[in-house]
Amino acid sequence: MSYTAESKRSYAAGSGAASQGQKSALAARPGVALGSIMGIPISLDYSWFLVFALLTWILGSSYYPSEFKNWPPLLYWVTGAATAILLFASVLLHELGHSYIAIRFGMTVRSITLFIFGGVAQIGAEPPSAKAELLIAMAGPAVSLGLAAGLSVVQPLLAGNEPLWGMAKYLAFINLALALFNLIPGFPLDGGRVLRALIWGATKNLRQATLIAANAGRFFGFLFILAGVWRMFAGDIGGGIWIAFIGWFLDNAASAQVHQVAFQGLLAGREVSQAMSRQCVSVAADTLLQQLVDEHVLGIGRRCFLVVRGPETVGLMTLHRIKEVPKAQWSTTTAADVMIPMREVISIGPSADLWAALQLMDRDGVNQLPVMSGSEVAGMLSREDIVTYLRTVQELGT
Ligand SMILES: [Zn+2]
Repeated sequence: MSYTAESKRSYAAGSGAASQGQKSALAARPGVALGSIMGIPISLDYSWFLVFALLTWILGSSYYPSEFKNWPPLLYWVTGAATAILLFASVLLHELGHSYIAIRFGMTVRSITLFIFGGVAQIGAEPPSAKAELLIAMAGPAVSLGLAAGLSVVQPLLAGNEPLWGMAKYLAFINLALALFNLIPGFPLDGGRVLRALIWGATKNLRQATLIAANAGRFFGFLFILAGVWRMFAGDIGGGIWIAFIGWFLDNAASAQVHQVAFQGLLAGREVSQAMSRQCVSVAADTLLQQLVDEHVLGIGRRCFLVVRGPETVGLMTLHRIKEVPKAQWSTTTAADVMIPMREVISIGPSADLWAALQLMDRDGVNQLPVMSGSEVAGMLSREDIVTYLRTVQELGT
């Protein structure tokens, strides 16, 4: 069973949008920090440099030379590079548009990252209302449309300066294209979020609205793939591959959303205590790793242990922690040496929602959580426990 549990909301702009999983990978990946605007850290993903180089090359070696004759060769490249930078500034402004409205609705914007397909704003939690969702989604394309209009207006004023006039013309066109592309009514594009907000507002059913917008996203992704393949057969290999690639990204992100909704539906109203395993093994703090592996891991196949000292639980031991220690040291290392101390362990209560537990695991990048009832360890919950539980539920048809 595969699923993407993603608590973050992402607004992507540009020629495509990454899937949810890739977005969180992006958020975790260090890039080049550019400082912050409105308190939001802005960074460049390394993939941005690839696109910057490609765009500069296309603009400097083919677009500008075909539009304008008789420039000194270097001017084509400088104008190309400047245009590429301003294009990404446009994308950044688009993301800041989403972010500004999100902040107005009391939401947190964790970061804005510029990457190969444009930009992504990581906005915390779900929007509080359909109206908020609608306005946040529309703010980005509104900024892009505003930029396109503004650049068209100033264009005649730049008529005396060919490079500036050429840049304004190109950027006006690109910003218009950016707005129109992002308004395609399929998730994860802004238009898909607008569609979702409208259905959400009309039906008061967020799940239903998300499903419809995500399926519309899959439809458009499929259309893009089809159009890309068609272009390839028509002889435009490079352009065709690019369009198909965008379609593939759209489809990926949209299907991840469909799966997430289905998964969330299965988990709705189910508590941690229903799925957690209660047979967690307690081992003494001075148990050697070798003994632990021989007796519990290989013998009974346990993967998780509570480390106790007298009556007190002092830490948590996982298979992962054991594997980090070289085998040769297993006979001299004790459980207490490598355990996660209890005060560092993130836990969840037995009556918490299973969905909330999964989101907590995703946020912290762990595969299991101890379930604490007050200061007592009530059990352990792992991703496998959740999947096993759901399978049982499905088999019994309850
Ligand atoms: Zn957008």
